[in-house]
Amino acid sequence: MKIGFIGLGNMGAPMARNLAAAGHEVLGYDPNAAAPDGVQAVASAVEAAKDADVVITMLPNGDILRAVAAEVVPVMRKGAIFCDCSTVDVDSARAVATQAEQAGILALDAPVSGGVGGAAAGTLTFMVGGPQQAFETVRPLFDIMGQKAVHCGTSGSGQAAKICNNMILGATMIATCEAFALADKLGLDRQKMFDVVSTSSGQSWSMNIYCPAPGVGPKSPADNGYKPGFAAELMLKDLRLSQQAAESVDADTPMGQLAAALYESFVEREGGRGLDFSAMLPRFEKRSRK
Ligand code: NAD
Repeated sequence: MKIGFIGLGNMGAPMARNLAAAGHEVLGYDPNAAAPDGVQAVASAVEAAKDADVVITMLPNGDILRAVAAEVVPVMRKGAIFCDCSTVDVDSARAVATQAEQAGILALDAPVSGGVGGAAAGTLTFMVGGPQQAFETVRPLFDIMGQKAVHCGTSGSGQAAKICNNMILGATMIATCEAFALADKLGLDRQKMFDVVSTSSGQSWSMNIYCPAPGVGPKSPADNGYKPGFAAELMLKDLRLSQQAAESVDADTPMGQLAAALYESFVEREGGRGLDFSAMLPRFEKRSRK
């Protein structure tokens, strides 16, 4: 397939590289980042998109996505597919899908889970909203970049799945970190805490796979001075998206709301910016109830 890849940052570059390594022709555009091995750099988003069968975007936020879509959708071939893999708000995903549909383009929102490691290894999970036919066409590309692709429903449902997943992740990470800090004060050894919880009903991805305590469990950013990984400010972005979505549909999400408030305070007032989101553990260690 001929692929236009727009946004070659931490996630986009390895994803584009994997597509090129699998034999696809990939034209890449990013105003600030170099094209990875095998990807042909072009001078504009329009150039990357105009002859492509599939345009993939991996961009920072919904405003930038809307701007890029406004530029490239009008030049894309009829019947081509616009597939956004960024994490953005549901409204932006739906607005872009409507614009694409009106221009005879099929649109998918296909955000990912798995982080930079998963992007490099080709083991991402894709959660996809949009027409089934477009999902089936792009599926071979999802299979190169990832290990699982779930068609979640109509436009916007991929983003809905992503923000719900990350709202759970934010809450479980905070719960795991505060429990470790409590266990410390109760004199419980961290390794014992891990051994019990990771095989008991308190287990979660945050404990079992991405343990926030250094030297305990599988290797994670905690073992690397809390260098991200998944930065606390990106978790804050996703929690804010979840609360924006909850407000728009009048859903009651008190745990998500509290997680958003705690990450906001961590990032904006407590030195968390630039640290991994699991650095909530040293934050709790320093604190007492008062
Ligand atoms: P990044 O900042 O490393 O990359 C974004 C890239 O987009 C940058 O290189 C930037 O130059 C480029 N860009 C900005 N405006 C552009 C434009 N108009 N045209 C073309 N390129 C443009 O961010 P990232 O970590 O690669 O994340 C990308 C998206 O993936 C975000 O929406 C993020 O929330 C999501 N995501 C990230 C992770 C992660 O662990 N990093 C995991 C899952 C999802």
